[in-house]
Amino acid sequence: MAAKRPTNSELKETVALAHRVLFLSGLATAAGHASARIPGTDRFLIKSWPHVHMSRLRAEDIITMDLDGNILEGKKENTTRVGEWPLHSEIYRAHPDVGAVIHTHQPWATLLGILGKTILPVLHPGLASVAAEPMPVFDEDYALITRPAQGRVLAQVLGNAIGCHLRTHGMVFAGPTLEIATTDAIHTEYEAEVTWRAMLIGTPRTIPMLFLRPALERRNTGQVPEAWEDYWKWIDKHQNSPRFRTVQV
Ligand SMILES: [Zn+2]
Repeated sequence: MAAKRPTNSELKETVALAHRVLFLSGLATAAGHASARIPGTDRFLIKSWPHVHMSRLRAEDIITMDLDGNILEGKKENTTRVGEWPLHSEIYRAHPDVGAVIHTHQPWATLLGILGKTILPVLHPGLASVAAEPMPVFDEDYALITRPAQGRVLAQVLGNAIGCHLRTHGMVFAGPTLEIATTDAIHTEYEAEVTWRAMLIGTPRTIPMLFLRPALERRNTGQVPEAWEDYWKWIDKHQNSPRFRTVQV
């Protein structure tokens, strides 16, 4: 069953939490950003700039923007929008069904993008479903996505895919909700790491589509993964636990 529609303040909490989870799971350094569309609108919630370190981002650091780059709400003195806001706005504009966008610099997935190698569905069907289809590669431009024209091309290259490589830079994910897009990013990193390690030894065998489809259908119908409630929220509350920054499979 799909989650109920969150209030704006709940959504801001989720946007902040997604940043912390992305950092704690090793997918982002101090920078990187996640955003969520306010359901049913052309407005989205995103962190402000200068960057607040991802590990300590809070709801009060989140601003509301429209698709033309205007800050509508939440701006504090001496803060503004992140330079890569068009990466988010143009995906929301091109894909009305997208409710969340994430940009990370996650190492394993980025590495495979640099190599031009496909992230393969190799590890556990429930996680591997993110790699059921090859992720497209945006390589029209090696600069940061700071102009709407770049964002429009990115949105086109992304299409309906779960994620997209920014070659030599990082990854972009788009999903129905931020909880789903965040776990997609984490699962993609697992698959990328295991794809790489397996390729060092031989030719990886992939999981057949038949076994990937159930998890893919749960995702596409907006079901929040159990790991979000059971594991990632726990990690956020126990940031000193040695259990984070490891592959948990
Ligand atoms: Zn970046």
